Amino acid sequence: MELEPDARVAIIGGGPAGSLTAFFLLRLAREMGQALRVEIFEPRDFSLTGPPGCNMCGGVISESLMQKMATEGIPLPKEVLLDAIDSYVLHTDSGSVAIRPRSDEMRIASIFRGGGPAGAESQKPLPWLSFDRHLLELAKGAGARHIPRRVRRLAWDAEHRPLLFLQPERGAARGGEGELPGEGPYDLLVGCVGLNGSGVKLFDDLAFGYRPPPSDRAWIGELYMGHEEVHRRLGNAMHVFLLNIPRLKFAALTPKGHYATLIILGQDVDEALAEQVLRSPEMRELLPVGWQTPVRPCHCQPRINLGAPHRPFTDRVVLVGDCASSRLYKDGIGAAYRMAKACALTVMTRGVGAEDFRLGYWPACRHLDRDNLLGHLLFSMDGLMRHLPPFRKAMLAVVGDEQRNPEDPRRLGSALWDTFTGSATYIDIFRRAAHPLNMYRLAMAILRAVFLRSRA
Ligand SMILES: Cc1cc2nc3c(=O)[nH]c(=O)nc-3n(C[C@H](O)[C@H](O)[C@H](O)COP(=O)(O)OP(=O)(O)OC[C@H]3O[C@@H](n4cnc5c(N)ncnc54)[C@H](O)[C@@H]3O)c2cc1C
Repeated sequence: MELEPDARVAIIGGGPAGSLTAFFLLRLAREMGQALRVEIFEPRDFSLTGPPGCNMCGGVISESLMQKMATEGIPLPKEVLLDAIDSYVLHTDSGSVAIRPRSDEMRIASIFRGGGPAGAESQKPLPWLSFDRHLLELAKGAGARHIPRRVRRLAWDAEHRPLLFLQPERGAARGGEGELPGEGPYDLLVGCVGLNGSGVKLFDDLAFGYRPPPSDRAWIGELYMGHEEVHRRLGNAMHVFLLNIPRLKFAALTPKGHYATLIILGQDVDEALAEQVLRSPEMRELLPVGWQTPVRPCHCQPRINLGAPHRPFTDRVVLVGDCASSRLYKDGIGAAYRMAKACALTVMTRGVGAEDFRLGYWPACRHLDRDNLLGHLLFSMDGLMRHLPPFRKAMLAVVGDEQRNPEDPRRLGSALWDTFTGSATYIDIFRRAAHPLNMYRLAMAILRAVFLRSRA
């Protein structure tokens, strides 16, 4: 089912997946000499501070993704990139160790997805640019039309083409009017609605068997400390906490200009768990002396993708980004980038039928989903390490030894770095972590820790 000449494409959602899908579609269409009309429906104004302008994310991207984007003609200006992070410190209740990656390729940078944390408007003009706004402008520059409206309902027309019904503008709603007449019909509808809010429910209207991926709540807080204090306390490092707190998987504190962004991942993360992490001695050591959690810090509890979607496509409809397949616990933006490209390539070189997506786009989703299964395994091993003190001590000892020897290939340290930053796939991390020399060193360190413990 090929796209007709001058086809009309609707993209719901102007986050990274939506803007990048539009960009790649329009670029490929231009290269193939095909006319294409792309409309992005996105109600959020990404230049606003606080929740109205923000797509709720830790805001860490890897150097390798930035380089890949730059070679694709999507350079990120320095106003978008806040801090270059060149190392991380692993904190456990048995001590901490600083880890440097093996090469500059593995550095990461921090960004704000929207206009910045609530209250940052007092710093006007803001000393940074929104990442999502930058990508949306890029898509507009490539020829996409941005329609700043929320989509409320979907339907098929008589020829089985998708129709969109928009939420009325504020004034119209007050008058008690129903929704506006349907937009479309469209030759292709791309759903890039993420997992937060009711966007994924829209696709129930089209009844093609789509089910969103499983997800859980996480916690993100922007802790204001001021630029100097952030850099004095955190340096250019991301601080990762593997603490023995029930329901916690891991927490990370990342420097971001005047702020330190705290991300908490675990099971049903709530305010009580966030408070427990903030009060842990390991975290206290990094926060300014006497630091109190502000009564209302800019924080949110977004949903994080934990698995595979069911049937994210049908004839003339496909879902991309968090609402389909993403990377487990990291690099969601990198995953959105890769899936947007796979989707655009399928549409322009195969077509927009369910069979086209099954053959062209679905293998890319399956590849990510299978890699995430290994990710689950790695995180469960990491959980084991956290709950058993000899394992924890052994891990710190091996990573510490690796760092002290400049000739060491640093397999465990680099596997941990990639686990938290998204610079490599889980299969690659698994290969390095399971290297026989690594296993031998860990086994020896565990025996030593058990022996010392029993003597004590
Ligand atoms: C706690 C946490 C930390 C994370 N940290 C990182 C990180 O450090 N690095 C990283 O790479 N990834 C991170 N991620 C993942 C990353 O946030 C997502 O993978 C990424 O945002 C996915 O992009 P998307 O475009 O698919 O969805 P989103 O960014 O969620 O965008 C969806 C868009 O759709 C719009 N929308 C929804 N419904 C409608 C509608 N009905 N009509 C019109 N528009 C609609 C929304 O307004 C929104 O703009 C993190 C996620 C979580 C939960």
